[in-house]
Amino acid sequence: MYEGKPPSSPARKGWSLDSIFGRAAEAEPQGRALASAAPVQAPLAEAAANDLFSRVGAFLKTHRLDPTPTNYDLGYQYIGGNDPAVVAAVDAAIAQDGFLRHDVAQQIVESTANTVSSELLEKLIDQAHQSMLLAASLVGQSRNDASAYGNALDRGAAALDAGGEPATRALELMLDLTRTMIGKTQDAERRLAEMGSQMASLQDDLAEAQAVAESDPLTGLANRRAFQSRLARAMAQAAQEGTPLSVAFCDIDYFKKINDNFGHDTGDRILKMVADALVEGAGEDAFVGRFGGEEFLVLFDGIMARRAAMRIDEIRDELSGRHLVSKTTGEPLGTVTFSAGIAQLQTGEGEGDMLRRADEALYAAKNGGRNRVLIAGED
Ligand code: GH3
Ligand code: MG
Ligand code: MG
Repeated sequence: MYEGKPPSSPARKGWSLDSIFGRAAEAEPQGRALASAAPVQAPLAEAAANDLFSRVGAFLKTHRLDPTPTNYDLGYQYIGGNDPAVVAAVDAAIAQDGFLRHDVAQQIVESTANTVSSELLEKLIDQAHQSMLLAASLVGQSRNDASAYGNALDRGAAALDAGGEPATRALELMLDLTRTMIGKTQDAERRLAEMGSQMASLQDDLAEAQAVAESDPLTGLANRRAFQSRLARAMAQAAQEGTPLSVAFCDIDYFKKINDNFGHDTGDRILKMVADALVEGAGEDAFVGRFGGEEFLVLFDGIMARRAAMRIDEIRDELSGRHLVSKTTGEPLGTVTFSAGIAQLQTGEGEGDMLRRADEALYAAKNGGRNRVLIAGED
């Protein structure tokens, strides 16, 4: 069914699903404006590392980008081919402007970066440290108190046995001791409660950090990494329980033209709009992720390809009927459509193979005229 990629998608040639799923790529990445390099292998030999370093330097120089850590990282991601979204976005920017403009580089960094802020990390580490210190001191103190109490009781009991002290005096002392120990236990309890609330707040902050690390900042959707881990779990369960599972690969049609005609910001807003439409239309039992650039994935757990295709097609139909208007200028933007390919998990199939079939169906949809949804294996 798959007859080759449409000519209007040069950026896609820069990466393949194989590189993402750790298989040997069928074809060498091409179309990289500056780098003819194959993806970097780890561990890097020193010479290769030096070579990479000088190529990243050359990349910054060619595009007159300041040698800031952010720009260096962008160059590293691009030359190394580690992040397909970065490669695609940089290639597209170079194709458009002839070189990578500083502001565009910034936008690419912002839209592809998914970092948990260093302040948040510092706060989390500090909180964890404080909690551990508190826990350690609490345990140490309680152990000392308990052993001191035990020793004092032993001494009291020995004194009682020896009959050296009047029994009432010895019992009074032991009562005092016990009162002190109760007080200490209450104190430990209070500190334990304090530690519990510190731990709860640490847990909240960790959950927040995890949400940041797993979500795409522009659309708020799960990013590729988060989507893939969710997909892997769902696939393992579907294989074990013999339930159906389908995945949809959606790609906005002629998105580059939208950027070219109306600017990157409008493009961003449209990406967000399509993301929202997918989330709303795919249903509560579906899971939507941004695969990168203008590509989205939808996981339909427990759902067969036909039904998944119907849902995606409804979204496509509704979206294609919207007449968009620029928020800032009020000018008409026309309509936005997307194409999609659906694949249902086959017995014994791996994640890469299923996504590859969905991707092939997507490209058949593109070749067939776009603005349509096709199921892998169906003509
Ligand atoms: P096709 O119908 O074949 O899919 O054509 P297309 O123009 O949609 O595909 P192509 O791969 O040629 O272009 C995708 C464009 O998406 C290029 C890139 O600049 C743009 N893009 C990728 N990520 C972002 C983003 O985060 N924001 C914006 N505004 N544009 C992006
Ligand atoms: Mg695309
Ligand atoms: Mg596209």
